[in-house]
Amino acid sequence: MRIERLCIIGVGLIGGSLARALRANDAVGEVVGCSRSAEHLQQAVDLGVIDRYDTDPAQAVAGADLVLVAVPMGAMEAVFKQIRPHLAPDAVITDVGSAKGAVVDAAQKAFGGVPANLVPGHPIAGTERSGVAASFAELFRQRRVILTPLAHTDAEAVERVRGLWETAGAEVVEMGVEHHDRVLAATSHLPHILAYATVDSLARLHEHDEIFQYAAGGFRDFTRIAGSDPVMWRDICLANREAILEMIAHFQVDLTALTEAIQARDGERLVEIFSRAKRARDEHAPR
Ligand code: NAP
Repeated sequence: MRIERLCIIGVGLIGGSLARALRANDAVGEVVGCSRSAEHLQQAVDLGVIDRYDTDPAQAVAGADLVLVAVPMGAMEAVFKQIRPHLAPDAVITDVGSAKGAVVDAAQKAFGGVPANLVPGHPIAGTERSGVAASFAELFRQRRVILTPLAHTDAEAVERVRGLWETAGAEVVEMGVEHHDRVLAATSHLPHILAYATVDSLARLHEHDEIFQYAAGGFRDFTRIAGSDPVMWRDICLANREAILEMIAHFQVDLTALTEAIQARDGERLVEIFSRAKRARDEHAPR
């Protein structure tokens, strides 16, 4: 299903990559970009990611049949408020925010109820890099995208958004909002918090220069995601606070058990924990 005019608010890694993928598949007529910085948007034009831009969201969404909101979580509500009076009546709106309960809350506040033509979504794809220069058309290929429509969400709008992501090469699944937020707290948010905490903790050790000098592959693999954008991760932690706190508490119990096994020189227990983890990792290793 071709999109005549796509408006992307937040032309960064995710928004830019989707624009590139749709253009590569000739699935979109015109792409209009919007964000705070004209300089960033001009860069997106120069890279061929968007056709034109407007820093005013009201102007940018005018006449768009599909609006993709790809800004950090903390900016969602303000963006929804800015675009609300200017959306075409039949426009479909979707977002890519990493926590869905907070997007639904933001929409409720901004629109006075979640519109039936708003389809909350989340691509399970990304890199630790940000900005339009980091975007690439293949980012979503063979990746999952989770849509979390509400009971009253328009089925046709869901199909349009599903088609959008499938065109970009993704596999689309649907899930409840709360379920999504718990699953992502465990699979993405907790690992990012642990990576940030590990690097921060080591960097503040007295011998940190030496530690980083001798850091090997294991350290690099484990901490790569600590290079992600701090503002984006601040917003995700605040947006998915409850589920994240639950996962941290669960993890702390298990870390304590591991600590106690080391304290007690309980090698058998350590092998048991590490073997269980290895089995799970071997069986479910992410692609
Ligand atoms: P990004 O590369 O930093 O892009 C964010 C874009 O939003 C930038 O173009 C920025 O441009 C714009 N922006 C920031 N604040 C804004 C505001 N108040 N109003 C309008 N535009 C604003 O970030 P990203 O990685 O694409 O992430 C975007 C969204 O996708 C986030 O909600 C994130 O949670 C979600 N997500 C990210 C990943 C990932 O791995 N990166 C994966 C899945 C979902 P200006 O600076 O010019 O305003």
